Amino acid sequence: MVAMPIDGCLRRLSRALEDDELNVFYQPQVDSSGLLQGLEALVRWHHPEDGLLVPDQFLPCAESSDVISEIGDWVLRTACAQLGPWQSAGYRPLRLGVNLASRHLSQPDLVSQVEQALAAGGLSAGWLDLELPETLTRRAIEKIFGSLHELAALGVGLSIDDFGTGQLSLSDIRRIPLDNLKVDRSLVCNVAGDPNSAALAGATIAMAHETGLNVVAEGVENADQHAILLGNDCDGMQGYLFGRPAPAYEIEDLLSGEKYLSGEPDRSLVQAAGV
Ligand code: C2E
Ligand code: MG
Ligand code: MG
Repeated sequence: MVAMPIDGCLRRLSRALEDDELNVFYQPQVDSSGLLQGLEALVRWHHPEDGLLVPDQFLPCAESSDVISEIGDWVLRTACAQLGPWQSAGYRPLRLGVNLASRHLSQPDLVSQVEQALAAGGLSAGWLDLELPETLTRRAIEKIFGSLHELAALGVGLSIDDFGTGQLSLSDIRRIPLDNLKVDRSLVCNVAGDPNSAALAGATIAMAHETGLNVVAEGVENADQHAILLGNDCDGMQGYLFGRPAPAYEIEDLLSGEKYLSGEPDRSLVQAAGV
């Protein structure tokens, strides 16, 4: 895909959508007590010749055109259609995180796309978190301000993804009706070995809390990082320590265990990771 000219790549991606070659994987997210609280939807492409492709191998091409919005809408509809029935089947209700690209966010019919996906999946708006890219510019935020407020009024949660990698400050993003800050893996990966990184992560969490935001750390890979983040009152965590992105049938196996149906607090993800 990488070597293909942009037009060819876009045509190929549109065909992949029509031919059902895209798939949604889900990565677990846990709360501070280790309880599974949500899943993030992450797109994959089962390319007939090249095998399983991750977003970095095809989304950059899609982002140059409205194909990114078609993919985003498809992921949103597919993930809502997955989560709604899981909830109705009696599995523990989980939040659903869906990533939206800047271009998709500026679509005039974004709010109705979201409403339709929720209605078709039978999922209440309160279970959906839309993850906004940290690469959004201040100007882009102004353009989508109305849609974001409409989505928040519906009860949809809004998160800033990969916080700490871009140019946005906490004061910029406080103008958005935001619920969560997802702290980027680059900030998390050194917290255990480098006191400055730990201090920076701690200060980010404290500032976010001061402004009423929930904090989720991304890319938590080991028990030391987990302990330091917990010590800094991090609200939620996601990373290979708790589970890699997995296809729906694997997540369903996880959810269909009795412990999940009982609705009892469950620490199995953290325990399985030896924390
Ligand atoms: P993201 O939204 O920040 O998602 C987290 C990424 O970090 C995922 O990569 C996940 O597999 C990876 N990750 C999670 N835990 C760990 C860890 O402990 N260690 C390491 N090394 N990596 C971890 P993935 O699935 O390759 O997705 C990359 C990015 O592509 C996403 O970053 C998101 O920005 C974008 N993306 C994925 N799916 C979609 C989509 O449906 N729509 C849009 N617009 N963007 C998407
Ligand atoms: Mg994300
Ligand atoms: Mg992220």
